[in-house]
Amino acid sequence: MKIETILSDIIRIESVNPPGGEIGVATYLKKLFDQQKIPSEIIESSPGRASFIATLGEGKRSLLYLSHADVVPVSDGWSFPPFSGEIKDGFVHGRGALDCKGLVAAEAFAMLTLAQTTRLKGRLIFAATADEETGGKMGAQYLAEHFPEKIRADFAVNEGAEAPVGINGKPCHFISVGEKGPSWLKLKTKGVAGHGSVPYLPNNAVVKMAKVLNSLANYTPRVVLTPEVKHLIQSIAELNGFPKEVNEGNLNELFSHLKDVSLSAYLRAITRMTISPNVIQGGVKTNIVPDSCQAEVDIRILPGQNKKYVLNELKPILGDTEIETIQYHAPTLSSTDTDAYRLITDTLKECLGEVTVMPTICAGATDSRYMREMGVPSYGIGMMTFKIDPAMKASVHGKDEKLDIESLRLKSDFLVRLAKKYLGV
Ligand SMILES: [Zn+2]
Repeated sequence: MKIETILSDIIRIESVNPPGGEIGVATYLKKLFDQQKIPSEIIESSPGRASFIATLGEGKRSLLYLSHADVVPVSDGWSFPPFSGEIKDGFVHGRGALDCKGLVAAEAFAMLTLAQTTRLKGRLIFAATADEETGGKMGAQYLAEHFPEKIRADFAVNEGAEAPVGINGKPCHFISVGEKGPSWLKLKTKGVAGHGSVPYLPNNAVVKMAKVLNSLANYTPRVVLTPEVKHLIQSIAELNGFPKEVNEGNLNELFSHLKDVSLSAYLRAITRMTISPNVIQGGVKTNIVPDSCQAEVDIRILPGQNKKYVLNELKPILGDTEIETIQYHAPTLSSTDTDAYRLITDTLKECLGEVTVMPTICAGATDSRYMREMGVPSYGIGMMTFKIDPAMKASVHGKDEKLDIESLRLKSDFLVRLAKKYLGV
């Protein structure tokens, strides 16, 4: 079977989360792996919420191919049916092509190729999880809590790196080695209800909240250069002809030097705690002074920071505002000073020729966090052809998602080479 056919087939199995329904993808993969006699199993955290796990080979060493089988919902305005899986003009079209069914297909194809051609001297584990898109509770988190031995490996490769970029014409690829942690807060201010025609008592909860949010917007987070991010930014600076060694003090100078606005926004996000007040609710009627107001704030922290850090930093701003944690997940990091990281870098260069490979930290979150918390180093690979269409990159979680077949083959080629190198043919 062709790799693009596998991707097309699994795009046509709708596994939109919520509600999920990953069982369709798991059943499809089970049939495919059964044909090659690769031992596998479907693990349901609840009916229909299925993760699929397979293992090839035996031995002391182990490598995990990780991916997820669910996709985000679709909005209106697609120029083709989102679940068509149509193969046309060198692309596979549809929801999940990039996130993350392209990786599911590439990892599955690599497993099938290795099963036919190679006797591995170690264990190659394949896991396509449920529920990544809403936090992994019914997927990777469930597996980590109930069946850690089924997914434990010396290291894992997963989604999570930015797509490659060209900097001054030089192709640059990223390996994601860490993730920021969400520390989402709900804030509540209280006031006293009264008639809107006499607003002279300091009891308006919405006005109190406005002051808090204004102060949050003006808060300047401390800039932190973790060693991995420093390596990344120094490489970017050099490729852009920025003549200095980067440090916390001259980052803004570098950012104004960069022409790529979205790259500097991303670099800003991975060098500090970010705070984004995104929801506000307060008041019931134009002529009533509101007695309560609520706001939800998306805060993301860097490896090395924690919940206590957030509260300490924001205490002077929040004062007597009520604070509730909506979601917290600690940031995670895998070292770049490992054989696994070096092996991934070498394999990327082997596949792509002379490219710059840099470590990066994900501003969002993936299932890699559960692996790292189990002590399994996890690396996100954004393996794609260098000359990809920028519109394609922007289609993750957006409209008209698609992946080119050349990138799909590259991903799979990389995965086969990595397994052969590590699991010692
Ligand atoms: Zn994903």
